[in-house]
Amino acid sequence: MKSAQPVPQDVPTLLVKIFGKDRPGLTASLFQTLAGFGVDVIDIEQVVTRGRITLCALVTAPTAGPAGSGGEGELRATVHGWAESVRLQAEIISGTGDNPARGVGRSHVTVLGNPLTAEIIAAIAARITGTGGNIDRIFRLAKYPVTAVEFDVSGVDTAELRTALATEAAALAVDVAVVDSGLARRAPRLVVMDVDSTLIQDEVIELFAAHAGCEEQVAAVTAAAMRGELDFEQSLHARVALLAGLDESVVDKVRAEVRLTPGARTLIRTLKRLGCQVGVVSGGFTQVTDALQERLGLDFAAANTLEIVDGRLTGRVTGDIVDRAGKARLLRAFAAEAGVPLSRTVAIGDGANDLDMLNAAGFGVAFNAKPLVREAADTAVTVPFLDTVLYLLGITREEVEAADAES
Ligand SMILES: [Mg+2]
Repeated sequence: MKSAQPVPQDVPTLLVKIFGKDRPGLTASLFQTLAGFGVDVIDIEQVVTRGRITLCALVTAPTAGPAGSGGEGELRATVHGWAESVRLQAEIISGTGDNPARGVGRSHVTVLGNPLTAEIIAAIAARITGTGGNIDRIFRLAKYPVTAVEFDVSGVDTAELRTALATEAAALAVDVAVVDSGLARRAPRLVVMDVDSTLIQDEVIELFAAHAGCEEQVAAVTAAAMRGELDFEQSLHARVALLAGLDESVVDKVRAEVRLTPGARTLIRTLKRLGCQVGVVSGGFTQVTDALQERLGLDFAAANTLEIVDGRLTGRVTGDIVDRAGKARLLRAFAAEAGVPLSRTVAIGDGANDLDMLNAAGFGVAFNAKPLVREAADTAVTVPFLDTVLYLLGITREEVEAADAES
């Protein structure tokens, strides 16, 4: 068998394009027709949208026999005759060689719309063109819970494209992720998530505070931390101190009150089926994250631990504090334990204390985050569904559903 060689650029080739109502057997029938001319297939692309097939095949031009039979003219007549017989439109365009090579600088641009309007596509496409980029391919990743489409773009530096589209995304209030196609994006090996307001909809300390009747004081400390008057560790100690004396039975109540973010189970289940390990790191408490780890089958979990003595919370935490630096440190530790390079990790979080972790990961996703976090992350999701992160990783809804059907 001959080894495959690229088609020389001066070799005559034909683009055969057919369009029309799809039905079973069309592709086989077209290629049986072409096979009669002994042509080689260089490229094929086929899509079906609402029962309409578009099939493009780039093939070598046939060589005419001694009597001039079996040449390009006969192929054209035969394919058009075939198309008519199956009520399709056909177009055959002569040229030479393969498709021109895609430009240097290749990116995947994922756009999440809820709804995805024509205005959004117009603006994103215009902005891509404005950077000198070329849209090579567009396809739908998902229709649920949002409409997600992916553009494959070449000819522009990924960072430049990301900057250009970030402005457009903010103006349109739509989520746009731009990633280098060189990244092994489709195969994340470890995903690490924040817990409060990311994996779950709640802030666990506030749930405890409600039982202790000190919600307002806790909120005041949180606000002071947000204003930069306290660092995370100081604010953690100050808030936990307000819980002193609380009966430990409250722990079970809080565990029961925690509400998972929509799409959390789908995200974790799909990642695990793809062979990816999943962990959580939290500035909250192991009393809650350990239960989440068991409930969701997480590979890793780390958080602060509320000290409990004689059945009551002491108002202190024990062990190492999980703060902003601690979260990044834990991501690295989980990656080392899983044997995964940092470039193959994804981190998801919403708060300022997630920033180091988002930066340390191969791909950092800000999830319904504060503007500061959104701007610093590789990409941002503003819709309230955690499973949309899968689409940013290039995983389609069909793949999610196929994985679900398997089990
Ligand atoms: Mg959070």
